[in-house]
Amino acid sequence: MIINQDTLNFLLYDVFQAEALTELDAYKDHDRSTFDGVIDTSLKIAQDYFLPHNAKADANEPSFDGESVSTIPEVKEAWKHFTEAGLINARHRFDEGGMQLPALVHSACMGLFTGANPSTAGYPFLTSAASNLIHAFGSETQKSLYLDGMFSGRFAGTMALTEPNVGSSLGDLTTKATPQDDGSYRLKGQKMYISGGDQDITENIIHLVLARVEEAPQGVKGISLFICPKFLLNDDGSLGKRNDVMLAGLLHKMGYRGTTSTVLNFGEKDDCTAFLIGEEGKGLSYMFKMMNEARIGVGLGAAMIGYRGYLESLAFAKDRPQGRKPSNRDTTSAPVNIVEHADVKRMLLAQKVYVEGSLALCLFASKLVDEHEAGGDENALVLLDLLTPVVKSYPSTYGCKANELAIQVLGGSGYIREYPVEQCYRDNRLNPIHEGTHGIQSLDLLGRKLWQKQGLGQQLLMQRVQATLARVKKHERLADLAEQYSTALKTFIETTTALGMALQQGRIDEALANSALYLDVMGRMVVGWLWLDMACAALESDRDEAFVSGKLQAARYFIRWELPEINHLSELLKGFDQTCAEMEVDWF
Ligand SMILES: Cc1cc2nc3c(=O)[nH]c(=O)nc-3n(C[C@H](O)[C@H](O)[C@H](O)COP(=O)(O)OP(=O)(O)OC[C@H]3O[C@@H](n4cnc5c(N)ncnc54)[C@H](O)[C@@H]3O)c2cc1C
Repeated sequence: MIINQDTLNFLLYDVFQAEALTELDAYKDHDRSTFDGVIDTSLKIAQDYFLPHNAKADANEPSFDGESVSTIPEVKEAWKHFTEAGLINARHRFDEGGMQLPALVHSACMGLFTGANPSTAGYPFLTSAASNLIHAFGSETQKSLYLDGMFSGRFAGTMALTEPNVGSSLGDLTTKATPQDDGSYRLKGQKMYISGGDQDITENIIHLVLARVEEAPQGVKGISLFICPKFLLNDDGSLGKRNDVMLAGLLHKMGYRGTTSTVLNFGEKDDCTAFLIGEEGKGLSYMFKMMNEARIGVGLGAAMIGYRGYLESLAFAKDRPQGRKPSNRDTTSAPVNIVEHADVKRMLLAQKVYVEGSLALCLFASKLVDEHEAGGDENALVLLDLLTPVVKSYPSTYGCKANELAIQVLGGSGYIREYPVEQCYRDNRLNPIHEGTHGIQSLDLLGRKLWQKQGLGQQLLMQRVQATLARVKKHERLADLAEQYSTALKTFIETTTALGMALQQGRIDEALANSALYLDVMGRMVVGWLWLDMACAALESDRDEAFVSGKLQAARYFIRWELPEINHLSELLKGFDQTCAEMEVDWF
């Protein structure tokens, strides 16, 4: 199973009010039945064409014989069903051939594919991201030349940023672009880790490459974005000459093994043609404009791989008889299923709060995209900007933790490849690394995002949190949780203020030394708030008692077990503890 559909419906319709989106002009042609229809279709394709070869793709990594790459045939079949269903461009307008789907509903659909098979889902997801960039910033000619092929599944896309010596610090990248008389550019350089950089699934691959135009300034202002197709296209859109972008080799990974990870050489023969998107020097800003959605995608993927592990371990625990209650000394009595043991319940409850909390966080972020894009609410974008590092990082960290717990619930079975949970863990372990590592996200949050627009994002977050606390007051059953949350909120605000003052005083290295801890604290605060919201929504719904009690118990677990961790972390942060920063390199 990929998802608990009751929970998904609850999140979409009770917690995030998806139906209210149909009041916005952009979504007025939709109703609940069209939303349910596309979710059902996605679930069916995910279950029928992605899930069945998840383990096979892991065990049979793509190979390269020096000439071409081979992937297992099921990947191409899955790609065909995904693209034929119109899912690559589902968010685009009706008059552009899209479904004009809200980001909220679209995210719910995409999560089903990562839950089923993250590595096969990687190909269409990258293509969607690359085509969105061309759609947003490409010229009319570029759009008409490339987008049809990408939307229909003839072409795939990649995002080629990283180089062997440049990962987190993109401003230092060295791939060179030389302008040509005909307006095109020649690229020269090497890119590394490029997902989907070569494959045998589509007839062409459209690489979006970050490079530095000759003589451009150092740093991020010198970076431009280019379209670099594997096969150049003729004016009528048919395939032309093979471009000089060559696969140097495949990388062999811990997880996500079905997605090719490539080292690509651009311009080995000095004949790599590329086309500038937008203006020179704005490449990274274009890329970052699309990053909010890409980072929601990473968080969502992490949440859903975590979710799959949770459901697998729950099913296993309900079916695995082992041992008796500590108080039962009767060795002739039947063993209980392990789901009855308090310690196993602990591991299941932790998984439940991590994965459902992470999914709620990603859906909330997607709803902010809708509030901004379709609702015209600029504040929604400010809040989304603030929360993006959390949306990327909380699920990445706690999705992995959930998968680790799933392995533990299965015992020995968790460690062997006949069961799916070890693969979930290996696949998920990528998520804290790519699209900006955990450390880089934390520096972005504490060093920049919190203080943009005079801290408007913080104020907007507090308004939403206060609205939930007011709502909680109507529910006597939640009174103790609201009180504990409010105490933690006070600590969080004090910590943020102390760090902000230190930054203002120019104590930058000191204040940012423990940024990763702050990211964790903020993740716990935001997900704790969402758990209170979910508890209210459950109590206000007409769902059955077991469902409601499950959400209340999960909220209770989060507030009692997960939230108090912020006290210790905040002590370190407020005290500007420099134990790590002051560790001399030669002391290691
Ligand atoms: C499976 C996989 C798929 C990928 N797919 C793509 C893709 O499709 N396209 C693409 O362009 N890239 C891709 N990447 C690359 C990925 O985005 C980078 O690996 C990532 O950004 C980290 O860069 P790096 O590996 O060079 O690590 P580094 O940047 O060297 O970082 C190493 C460690 O140092 C820390 N660190 C670095 N700088 C700082 C700093 N200033 N302050 C504090 N800590 C710091 C990091 O947090 C990290 O822990 C992929 C990577 C993998 C593994």
